[in-house]
Amino acid sequence: MTDTRALRSFIEKATQDRRLIVVSNREPYVHRKQEQDIVWEQPVGGLTSALDDVLRLLGGVWVAWGSGDADRRTVDRKSRVRVPPDQPSYTLKRVWLTPGEVENYYNGYSNHVLWPLCHIALERVYLRHRYWEDYVSANHRFARAVGEEVESGTMVWIHDYHLALLPALLRADYPDLTLAHFWHVPWPNFSVLRVCPQARELVEGMLANDLIGFQVSHFASNFMDCVEKLIPDAEVDRERAIVSLKGHETRLEAFPISVDFERFHQMASSRRSQRFMEKLRRRLNLAPDILLGVGVDRLEYTKGLTKRLQAIELFFERFPKFRKRFTFFQVAVPTRASEPYIGYGKGVQALVRQVNQRFGTAEWKPVIYTEAKMEHRELAALYREADLCIVSSVYDGMNLVAKEFISCQTEEKGVLLLSEFAGAAEELDEAIIVNPYDLESFSESIRDALAMGSRERRKRMRTLRERVSAADINTWIRNIIQRMSDLASARSGGTAFLFRDIEQIALQDLFLFLDFDGTLSPIAPTPEEARFPVHVQKILNKLKKVMPVAIISGRSLEDVRSRVGIPDLVYSGNHGMEIWNGREMVRQEAGDISRLEELVEELIRTFRDIPQVIVEHKRLSASLHFRKVPPKKLARVFGRFWEVTRPYDAHFNVSTGKKVLEIRSKEAWNKGDAVTWILEAIAPTRHPVYIGDDVTDEDAFRAIRGKGTSISVGRNPEADYYLENQDQVGKFLEWLYLRTLFFPELAGGQGN
Ligand code: UDP
Repeated sequence: MTDTRALRSFIEKATQDRRLIVVSNREPYVHRKQEQDIVWEQPVGGLTSALDDVLRLLGGVWVAWGSGDADRRTVDRKSRVRVPPDQPSYTLKRVWLTPGEVENYYNGYSNHVLWPLCHIALERVYLRHRYWEDYVSANHRFARAVGEEVESGTMVWIHDYHLALLPALLRADYPDLTLAHFWHVPWPNFSVLRVCPQARELVEGMLANDLIGFQVSHFASNFMDCVEKLIPDAEVDRERAIVSLKGHETRLEAFPISVDFERFHQMASSRRSQRFMEKLRRRLNLAPDILLGVGVDRLEYTKGLTKRLQAIELFFERFPKFRKRFTFFQVAVPTRASEPYIGYGKGVQALVRQVNQRFGTAEWKPVIYTEAKMEHRELAALYREADLCIVSSVYDGMNLVAKEFISCQTEEKGVLLLSEFAGAAEELDEAIIVNPYDLESFSESIRDALAMGSRERRKRMRTLRERVSAADINTWIRNIIQRMSDLASARSGGTAFLFRDIEQIALQDLFLFLDFDGTLSPIAPTPEEARFPVHVQKILNKLKKVMPVAIISGRSLEDVRSRVGIPDLVYSGNHGMEIWNGREMVRQEAGDISRLEELVEELIRTFRDIPQVIVEHKRLSASLHFRKVPPKKLARVFGRFWEVTRPYDAHFNVSTGKKVLEIRSKEAWNKGDAVTWILEAIAPTRHPVYIGDDVTDEDAFRAIRGKGTSISVGRNPEADYYLENQDQVGKFLEWLYLRTLFFPELAGGQGN
């Protein structure tokens, strides 16, 4: 069962009040006429209910085709209706399609062109000009509907192959949207996609997204191949899986979809499920010692039902000792009532009859076949009871049935036979992997599965269950929402690479170095007035438990420590000249203190008549702040400054910061020296991340080049990445902290 509180807290933090719009062809609630009444129903499907959970928590908008015959009667003037109807918590915005569009965009282009194309069923591809025309017009209708709902900073999460043109249409009108698209079906390689006359338009449409999610990385790689072949202007960075076109970047990533493990597990464990199965066994006349195999699919040619039945036939032929000992129960629900599905269904039924006629007896039926849809609750019971589940897709994006079966195997006795052509095979190694075209091997795998010892079955199933429960539907949602939010943050400042690259590094391997003024704390008119934001302080207090944190400031050590107010951090003051390790002073440069004092006194005297000039004596260094000096007096200030400091040239360096001149001894350490020393002394193997805004921070950027990540506040060519402004630093730290919360396994050891 979804842990609602944890999910809510995660989503609220990750989205930071940005509006989320989900767009899909299918709607989550359908209104239908029933005699004089209007009733509503929720289409069954793991995905719709998982996304429904997210929107219930967030209260966003779901845009979808209004397909129910009473849909129009339940919406307002803007085609909106609050859902769920019994507990309104978010808005469903319906898109109206003409009957012609339904026929051409949905049945035609989506189901007769893109579906078979993506599943490499080229014989079943039907191309018609009107299919494409209406696909374009329907995508425009979706774009208009989404457009009516967007606000600044909105994140739009688009689903599947019905809406490949939508991203480009939205991007043209709303350049600032964050667009993510999850492609649920496979993405074919170029030799297949080229069959489609509109391949280039489809790929271009998709490249307006900021993020495209695929089920497995292989599909992302196919997509990149297609981009290279179809769009020569695009740059493809294969290593980082980023495509750039006309200055826009699209990230590609695999997010394997999953099921609600807990929900299936609980349904399978219930008394009700046990009773259902007892009844079903009686109804089907299944003897208690009969081994039970199951197949659960839509009646769909990509599911390899004919291959499965042929393999079962061969299995009974070659391994007769299993006759009367094994029954295969196949659920095949028709979802598309047109050709080629009608013909395919007839073929499947004929095969079932053939197997039953060849091997069946008066008391035993080798294959029991039903086209009646079963509810998840019933399926859970069936999955739990089964000794074997066969998934034999000839091509499949993921295949949820495989994961549902695993989630329901509470007794860990069943074996999964899984096609190598289903996306799920990439994750589920402990299944028996089959090639559905290789019928002899397939039939032997059925024998192997049924003959497998109980210890081996248990061992495999336990590992599979651990894997599915660790990466369930909530993980999928979180990962995508997190990535979308990162991109949205990056859009409002900084670079998206940053988040992704830091994410590659385990939290317990990081060492965080932070400048203070202009980085953690907003620049104030005078150093005295600087205020350290409380929320940043709170985050640092939490982050320090996970990784060492050092504050590297130009201020005196004492000053910066008291302003930050967290005693046990590492501090370096005076641009690296003083270092405190969290407990004691570990390094302090002597420098030429008396000569510096002399110079400071002279400066104070010189600027006595210009009160806007602030001379700050930090014992080991000094600063002259001129932020408040009126522009017309600036020339005078600089003239006098250089005049006073010239005699000291041999002893001191002067560097320029933000409205400040810094005076430091020539031998003194800079921030780069301090970072190198601290890293070496405290945690030499960690990956340093340094964030700073000032010229003096460039020494630190250079010091960690090649061994860490440098981030400037505002663009700076010396740094690897940048954040747009100081405010974004807090957001970045918050993001780091969020990762420790939701991926606690990454949080690892304690910091300093
Ligand atoms: N399903 C169902 N009742 C049935 C047959 C199938 O609820 O009688 C569900 C099944 O539990 C699974 C989904 O349909 O959640 C099929 O998903 P899958 O990924 O296996 O294939 P798809 O239909 O998405 O291609």
